[in-house]
Amino acid sequence: MTMVQSRPEVVIVGGGIGGLFAANALIAHGLRVAVYEQAPALGEVGAGVFMTPNSVRHLERVGLGPAVEKWGAKVGAGSCYFRHDGAPIAPVQVTDSSGWNATFGMHRADLVEILASALPAGVVHIGHRCSGFEQNGDVARVSFANGAVAEGHVVIAADGMHSELRQFVAPPSRPVFHGSVAYRGVLAHERIADWPTDCWLMWLGQGKHFLTFPVRAGQLINYVGFVPADQEMKESWSAPGDPDVLRREFAGWDPRIGRLLSQVQATFRWALYDREPLSTWTRGRLTLLGDAAHPMLPHLGQGANQSIEDGMALATILARADRKTASKSLLAYERLRRERVALVQRGARENGLRYDSVYSDLGVRDAEITAHANFRKQLYAYDVVPEAQAAAATLT
Ligand SMILES: Cc1cc2nc3c(=O)[nH]c(=O)nc-3n(C[C@H](O)[C@H](O)[C@H](O)COP(=O)(O)OP(=O)(O)OC[C@H]3O[C@@H](n4cnc5c(N)ncnc54)[C@H](O)[C@@H]3O)c2cc1C
Repeated sequence: MTMVQSRPEVVIVGGGIGGLFAANALIAHGLRVAVYEQAPALGEVGAGVFMTPNSVRHLERVGLGPAVEKWGAKVGAGSCYFRHDGAPIAPVQVTDSSGWNATFGMHRADLVEILASALPAGVVHIGHRCSGFEQNGDVARVSFANGAVAEGHVVIAADGMHSELRQFVAPPSRPVFHGSVAYRGVLAHERIADWPTDCWLMWLGQGKHFLTFPVRAGQLINYVGFVPADQEMKESWSAPGDPDVLRREFAGWDPRIGRLLSQVQATFRWALYDREPLSTWTRGRLTLLGDAAHPMLPHLGQGANQSIEDGMALATILARADRKTASKSLLAYERLRRERVALVQRGARENGLRYDSVYSDLGVRDAEITAHANFRKQLYAYDVVPEAQAAAATLT
């Protein structure tokens, strides 16, 4: 790595998956970082996240491969799309184009714990809710509701869908509600002992779809039921849902779903929002990352994976920057990432239409689902590092 004099010091606002991974990647590239999280403790709700090779390769690069192998549940052959009644549609290809299988179901709390515990002591500051931002030619300053102030040469807004810092970069925009909610939760595998612990399984029906995959080395099964909703609710992880309503939504589907749902005692409800792609992510020393930059629907399972790609791209580019060139480097990061994530944001919307079977001829849907394997292979094969290195080289 080229040593750069007067390296930029980085402030990250938001200690979710995006902010914590970015901190790991920046530290791996020799930069000084502080993370400020509003919550009184780091944590996540009881739900799963599906990690795909395009981000797992970066977790491996920062030394977290063994932790992902240990806490994740590797998903492999046997993964399948079904019609609502259980008739198979197509296998789910979970490998990348080279055949490398690095696709893991993870409990969100496990991933946050892995990312946080890899950071040196003193990097993460909890109980800091960002409430203001200012910058001049030399430095950027973040203020917090508790009266604290943090200064850096770069500020990364990783503060999620409802980002406080986005207003300092982009014109106001409204989240787009997509007319459905997801019921989510995890079940102990022992309660559904014959459920496969190495498969991603999805059932598709009119206006609804149902997904399961294993997490925590197969000890838990994550489920998500997507159903229509006519009422907007603020996007939230913690809104409780009614298990009986969830069971009624999928009554008459494949009996395997009924069997799994009969074990559910508590569930979360989460409304599906995204935003139109932003025209800009960066102003001076401030840039956006993860859901703050590009909230997307979950229908490609890419929100967390793309936030990890963002963090790796940013760290690779900032590693070559000094305090003076930091702003230029942030623009290079934005140029590299904006087009790819816009493609994924659009792709997630399109896939949602397939998943909710908005087709008069289900044969057409099934053919598209089968053919979609090619898109996923390209998505998973992508490695942001060589492109970020090339972008950084043009700046020096
Ligand atoms: C139901 C569901 C299923 C999903 N499934 C997948 C999947 O399978 N695969 C996948 O890749 N992605 C998935 N995602 C998306 C993924 O969870 C998100 O895209 C990802 O967590 C983005 O991380 P983030 O760090 O940008 O934002 P967040 O996880 O929202 O983190 C933002 C952090 O910033 C903090 N914060 C907010 N405001 C402030 C403030 N003012 N000051 C300080 N801190 C602040 C918050 O407390 C939070 O900790 C799913 C999302 C949902 C909701």
